[in-house]
Amino acid sequence: MDSWLQSFNSTVEAITGHPTPASVLYAGLDTSKLSYLEQLWVKWYEYWGNPVIATGVMSFVLHEIVYFGRSIPWIIIDSMPSMRKYKLQPKYVPSAADQWRCTKLVLLSHFTVELPQIWSFHPICEYFGLTTHAVPFPSVYKMAWQIALFFVMEDFYHYVVHRLMHYGPLYKHIHKIHHEYSAPFGLAAEYAHPLEVLILGLGTIGSPFLLCFFTRDLHIVTVYIWVVLRLFQAVDAHSGYDFPISLHNWLPFWAGADHHDYHHMAFLGCYSTSFRWWDHLLGTDRGYQRTRAKQKAVKLRQQADELDKYAASLKAQ
Ligand SMILES: [Zn+2]
Ligand SMILES: [Zn+2]
Repeated sequence: MDSWLQSFNSTVEAITGHPTPASVLYAGLDTSKLSYLEQLWVKWYEYWGNPVIATGVMSFVLHEIVYFGRSIPWIIIDSMPSMRKYKLQPKYVPSAADQWRCTKLVLLSHFTVELPQIWSFHPICEYFGLTTHAVPFPSVYKMAWQIALFFVMEDFYHYVVHRLMHYGPLYKHIHKIHHEYSAPFGLAAEYAHPLEVLILGLGTIGSPFLLCFFTRDLHIVTVYIWVVLRLFQAVDAHSGYDFPISLHNWLPFWAGADHHDYHHMAFLGCYSTSFRWWDHLLGTDRGYQRTRAKQKAVKLRQQADELDKYAASLKAQ
């Protein structure tokens, strides 16, 4: 093991106690029966030599790579004038200064709120009974239904807590920062007060813990896949673009950018993250429905005018 890693591990062990090293965790394991990804998983835990650090570092790095990695295509799309016709609020395109401002606050929040949690993530997982270092992974079927359930659970939690965040003092002291951009863009997904990151993030991470508390049957790899999908959902919902191929155009209950962009534009309504049903059932999407209906009518009128002009030009010939 590298010497820096050894001294790093000793420091962490002095703080967290002495967790079982990977060499002991995997004693007697026959790796020849494992898939390539499962073998990589074992190698990762063996490399760090301490499951607390292995889990913590993976969680942090995964978040950074996926969040900023997913934002890059949107930064490129924002720089392309040909994409403007798909922008929900085409008048507002983020400047490089806006992108940089967001990056700074997001990084500050990640390094102050999240980084310290590296030390506690693995012990919390163990407390709730999550499988961490162990292999093999669960079946694809099990992962799929658990992730689908997390989407539903997080969406409900987010609807309730986000709606509460719009209550006077909570909005003024916490949620207002996230609403600084009335026309959002990918990097603005986590542009928020650190407390908001913590409170709303609980829906993403608390849902798996809650399920595992009752079932005692959840692998952390399922949680990582869920977190990656949730990050894609959050960044895309803030992208500000609605393409004909966007998910909500063929999955009508999916919220997507069309739904959340309206929330930033109007400040009220459309509180959910992934789905449209809570806003619809509780009547908080009425303004959105009216606005989109008006926009559709204006577009149809413009198309009708263009057709009239074309017909008139044909007559004149
Ligand atoms: Zn809001
Ligand atoms: Zn937002």
